[in-house]
Amino acid sequence: MESTVQIACQQCGTCCLANVNCYVTDEDLERWKREGRDDILHIIEHEHAMWVGDHLVSSLDGHYLHGCSFLTWEGTHYACSIYATRPSVCRDYQPGSSEICTQFNQNHHF
Ligand code: SF4
Ligand code: SF4
Repeated sequence: MESTVQIACQQCGTCCLANVNCYVTDEDLERWKREGRDDILHIIEHEHAMWVGDHLVSSLDGHYLHGCSFLTWEGTHYACSIYATRPSVCRDYQPGSSEICTQFNQNHHF
């Protein structure tokens, strides 16, 4: 039986290390257009993460990318700078539900 225990997000940012641009849906794009979020649309349309050696850089200006372009460090934890309107893939992700989350093992006792 699957555990129903809710795993609390530790805001470690690990699940935000992907290039989220690949997972943006048409629905996300439509919402950002409605909300007038040209800032988000600009980044999604123009900035792509590229591998250079063992790290990712921006295709825009080559600056070092530490995962998603919208991930920010708040001094004690990571946060999403577009949290209220983040992509559906991020909205739907349940902490601890897959190996990408650092809390994954706490939810599964084999
Ligand atoms: S949009 Fe926000 S929640 Fe989604 S991967 Fe980027 S920083 Fe994480
Ligand atoms: S990897 Fe898990 S604990 Fe870390 S930010 Fe993502 S959901 Fe939260």
